[in-house]
Amino acid sequence: MMSESLPPSTQAALRGLPSVNALLKEPALQAALGARGVSPVTEAVRSVLEETRREIRDGESQLPTPPDAELAERCLARLGAEAKPRLRPVINATGILLHTGLGRAPLAEEAIEAAAAVSRGYCNVEVDLESGERSQRSHAVAKMLGGLTGAEAALVVNNNAGATGLAVAALAAGREVVVSHGELIEIGGGYRMPEVVTAYGAELRAVGTTNKTRVADYENAIDEKTGALLVVHPSNYEVSGFTQRPALEDLAKVAAAHDVPLVHDVGSGALIDFAPFGCEGEPVVGSSVLAGADLVLFSGDKLLGGPQCGIAVGKRRLVEKMLRHPLCRALRVDKVTLAALQATLALYADPETAKQRVPLLRMLNAPLGELRRRAEGLACELRRSLSGWDVTAICDEAYVGGGALPHRSLASWSVALKPSDESSEDAFAQRLRAGSPPVVGRLSQGRLVLGLHAVHPEEDSLLLSSVVSAWRSLES
Ligand SMILES: *Cc1c(COP(=O)(O)O)cnc(C)c1O
Repeated sequence: MMSESLPPSTQAALRGLPSVNALLKEPALQAALGARGVSPVTEAVRSVLEETRREIRDGESQLPTPPDAELAERCLARLGAEAKPRLRPVINATGILLHTGLGRAPLAEEAIEAAAAVSRGYCNVEVDLESGERSQRSHAVAKMLGGLTGAEAALVVNNNAGATGLAVAALAAGREVVVSHGELIEIGGGYRMPEVVTAYGAELRAVGTTNKTRVADYENAIDEKTGALLVVHPSNYEVSGFTQRPALEDLAKVAAAHDVPLVHDVGSGALIDFAPFGCEGEPVVGSSVLAGADLVLFSGDKLLGGPQCGIAVGKRRLVEKMLRHPLCRALRVDKVTLAALQATLALYADPETAKQRVPLLRMLNAPLGELRRRAEGLACELRRSLSGWDVTAICDEAYVGGGALPHRSLASWSVALKPSDESSEDAFAQRLRAGSPPVVGRLSQGRLVLGLHAVHPEEDSLLLSSVVSAWRSLES
């Protein structure tokens, strides 16, 4: 379908493109046919020809037509890229410790070993070994969670969104959930609290104002239609200035007086006080239980530093209601998650051990001097390899991420790379993401910045070699 309006040289270039069958005769592709089979190779040839045709038509490709051997090379590159698994380990040089796009918390070695051990064979995920009877799968960790938070009972589901949905469905379906206007949050991925409440069959009763909500606002809203009071940690934003929030203790008294459950979605799930880590104001699960919340909900893969899951701890009567709800089965966690969670929680039995063994806590605790030494060491090596580029170790900021403490940054160190005039930092970032292992950094003011706070020190040499390879592929 050559349009008459295309310049003659473009039309000639389009005519010069080989057919699928002709290109398949290239020796390189004949070899690939033997190794990979007809269908993926033909598919790669078809899509490369399609793309080249488009590039010629849009004037993006150099004329005349690329030689068949070069087109065949492009097909092989495409086949190579497709052969690589899509989900791969990456080096997180974003400076964000809990990056949802990069899988949040890395697991402790103990958790990895426990997950591997139950993956290889069978385990008693729903069998009580003492009695031989069927048991509830959260039982394995319920006792530990009780010990760490002071709660009577606990339940583990797929994630905190699931725990929240299940709590709403089991405790308040067909009734009202009372939430402060200041807590009707939206977090990543379009997760909006008002929609969560209605999606699970309850009605939202918003009270107070954006900046001020008092105990009386909740109390005035309670009537026979009330299913629960829900307090939500604002996570990724902050209401500051002329503000007021009731103390959880006071709200708990009102909830108890009216026999309405008080549910606290604390979000990131700090099992210990994070103030010594430079994270003041992050709610601690145990404090919330102590203050009288009937149910506390949180994620397993945020500040807790474990596998993805959602945890509900609190009154036995409420947890059992959730366990009996049909949705519970749809949200259940697998044995691998439970094993990793159990091993992570075991580390918290001694907070000092947790600080040394849970990677997230270790990263939060990393001495600034050590980050600086690593940044300067890497910058020094890179300056030697990346000729013509400006490489510097910079004093930088890192973030906890995962909705925890959005405005508070951690003092950190990074390596900043400024390409020579011929290359762009954008193109370099792309090469780095395509590398082995891929490295994800951040762009800032014409530079690519590699933050070291979320890079394990053992990954430094891999980071170095990935950066050098990406530089070679760009500069060659
Ligand atoms: C992160 C977060 C959630 C969602 O947790 P997931 O484990 O990602 O489902 C819900 N509520 C709050 C307050 C959060 O911070």
